Amino acid sequence: MKKIIITFLAVMGLFAANAQVECGTKVTGPPIRFSTKQQDSLKAILAVTTPYAVRVHITVFADDNGTNVAATNANVMRQFNNMVNQYQPQNICFILIDVRQVNSTDLNNHDADTEEADLNAYKIAGCLNIFIHNSLPGLNGTAYAIPNTYLSLSGATVTSTTNLTTMGHEAGHCFGLYHTFETAFGRESVTRNSANSCYDCGVDGDLLCDTAADDPTDPNGQVNSSCTYIGGRTDECGVAYTNTPTTNIMTYGDRACRTIFTAGQGGRMRSMMITSATLIPIVADNVVFAPATNGPLTYTTGVGQDSGRDELYISNNTTDNYTVSGTAVRNLVSKKIYLKPGTRFAPAAGGQVHVKVNPYCN
Ligand SMILES: [Zn+2]
Repeated sequence: MKKIIITFLAVMGLFAANAQVECGTKVTGPPIRFSTKQQDSLKAILAVTTPYAVRVHITVFADDNGTNVAATNANVMRQFNNMVNQYQPQNICFILIDVRQVNSTDLNNHDADTEEADLNAYKIAGCLNIFIHNSLPGLNGTAYAIPNTYLSLSGATVTSTTNLTTMGHEAGHCFGLYHTFETAFGRESVTRNSANSCYDCGVDGDLLCDTAADDPTDPNGQVNSSCTYIGGRTDECGVAYTNTPTTNIMTYGDRACRTIFTAGQGGRMRSMMITSATLIPIVADNVVFAPATNGPLTYTTGVGQDSGRDELYISNNTTDNYTVSGTAVRNLVSKKIYLKPGTRFAPAAGGQVHVKVNPYCN
């Protein structure tokens, strides 16, 4: 009997070791809540009609010799377009700075738990950095922290035509969203009656009351293909979960069901973008001048970007030159781009200048 139990435990351990976790994003530190003053401004934020524009830079890893590319460009762009469509109703759009391939066997096989710092050398300043790895053991994706400016996805996740949301889900964490079934701050009760002693939707779970309480017991296995909750459990007050947010991008369950963010999630993300020191740098101004102040800008090495949501003016006058030379890779992206006198592009071998119209913030 003992032997059987040991064997059973060993098999269980095997399953545990091989279990694929949807999302590796960890919640650390206190809950990020908004003050009353911020809540008031949130109402104004909800009313905005022009979109918040987030710069996105995508790095697709391959092995040192260029083989085992983590995902094809077509698959990357399909997932990016899915994300664009998911955020559009929340008045958040994306400026796609670039999609590049980096050959590194080390980074193409990436352990998100122990090798996070390896990404530092590949982060492009001012952007939400999306890294795609051929192997990301145990995970579909992770945003590492909430909020954050970089995330990792497995190549299989990006390649899958039935996975429509992992890119948008991890970006949601980067923009300040928790899982709808989060328990780090306490388990959320079902009631939405603020007079009820169990009422806690603003302080427990994902801190949002317009996402229904989500059963955290088995978030992967309690939704059927009709997007109906079948867990049959109750919250801490004994109230049955009946209306769990099975269609929300920040839950687990059936992939085909997860298509929406709520207005509360949209408002929270936009509030994070204008209040979080982490996120402010990745949100583009409407009109951008480079140089922004008097004096020349010269780039000779490294990868970087200048971008505005609507208009980008390169070089304001002949004394404030904008020069790209040497091995510098420079991405200039906006709805409209004006190259004025004093713009000088002279890339050497390995250097590049990309001037691209962004179609995702129209
Ligand atoms: Zn997640």
